Amino acid sequence: MDHFELRDGVLHAEDIPLPQIAAEVGTPVYVYSRATLERHAQVFRDALKDVPKKHLAFAIKCNPNLGVLRVLARQGYGADVVSGGELERALASGMAAEDIVFSGVGKTRAELAQGLDRGIGQFNIEHEPEGAALAEIALARETTANAVLRVNPDVDAGTHAKISTGKAENKFGVGIDVAPQIFARLAALPGLNLRGVALHIGSQLTSLAPLEAAFERVGRLVSDLRAAGHSITHVDLGGGLGVPYKPGDNPPSPADYGAMVARVTKDWDVTLMFEPGRVIAGNTGVLLTEVLWVKPGAANPFVIVDAAMNDLARPALYDAYHDFAAVKPTGEKMTASIVGPVCETGDTFARDREIDAVQAGDLAVFRTAGAYGATMASTYNSRSLVPEVLVDGGRYIVVADRIAAGTIMAAERVPDWID
Ligand SMILES: *Cc1c(COP(=O)(O)O)cnc(C)c1O
Repeated sequence: MDHFELRDGVLHAEDIPLPQIAAEVGTPVYVYSRATLERHAQVFRDALKDVPKKHLAFAIKCNPNLGVLRVLARQGYGADVVSGGELERALASGMAAEDIVFSGVGKTRAELAQGLDRGIGQFNIEHEPEGAALAEIALARETTANAVLRVNPDVDAGTHAKISTGKAENKFGVGIDVAPQIFARLAALPGLNLRGVALHIGSQLTSLAPLEAAFERVGRLVSDLRAAGHSITHVDLGGGLGVPYKPGDNPPSPADYGAMVARVTKDWDVTLMFEPGRVIAGNTGVLLTEVLWVKPGAANPFVIVDAAMNDLARPALYDAYHDFAAVKPTGEKMTASIVGPVCETGDTFARDREIDAVQAGDLAVFRTAGAYGATMASTYNSRSLVPEVLVDGGRYIVVADRIAAGTIMAAERVPDWID
């Protein structure tokens, strides 16, 4: 459920008509709904009501906007971060250091030290040398790092190959078969409080079966580690729950997920940690765009919009589907391809799709753009960096400015030795 609805024939974000934002901020622009964000945060927490000890860490890579993070901080969420930059964002948004989990496949020594200096709650160790480096850095600071070992459970998450992370051939974590030996060696290091394990098998999962299979494998690992004398107090189950993008999509609900988690983990006696991203933020945002031109094509017309692959990369990266809707739908339909102005054929949002009929000058949205949207934006083709707006009832604020192509250019220089 979201708060982007037609009122008197005009699409609104909560109480704000989208044409008002287009007129005042310009397009393209991301528009987020605070009420939707809060609702999703609440629904996910409620779904885990039967999990006695839990920690919720929003995977901020999907939407690191400070305004968005502040809303989630107020909902009691911490952060799952994957870089030093994200770590600083989480802190700047008001999240407590101890609520921050540092994932990330290639943390640098400087980032490990930064995490320790900031006093974050947990490091998710990706492989043995990283754990050894963390122990050494912690020891030099006369402190102890809380950590868990990320394991790769070797299950097929059944999602797009580029966002699948839990197969043996993926770069993430250590193989679950070799995890006990690595765990034992790392647990013996002073400077490290190795207190559990973590997994994250992929994103946009549309079935619970691979998650359940992975959790069961990790449950057996926890028993084995305990049998070997280790104290296991924390298990981080990652994120990955899918959201509906297309009409008719029916991914498992947070409630179904929560019931499965409670059932599979009921005897684990650990603090369960969660790293939801997309399921919290996906449907809280739309990308508002203006139709620039409608141009005849070989089969169907091209609807050329002012948003492009540099603003919303998912269709070009993952062949992702984003629903397209006119801000003032007439009820008429047309079949068209929707493309942006960037000079790449990959700059295509939809091919030969039946959509709301639109013409030049009309406004439209791409839905479900609140996760992995603005955060992946670039300035390719020397376009501006897309701005973001947060709506709260009848008010809104620009939570990220449009960064003009000229501002980017001002950070460049021409060597004076080229003449
Ligand atoms: C990306 C990521 C997540 C969030 O994934 P979603 O599919 O957005 O829920 C959680 N944990 C880790 C380690 C990640 O890399």
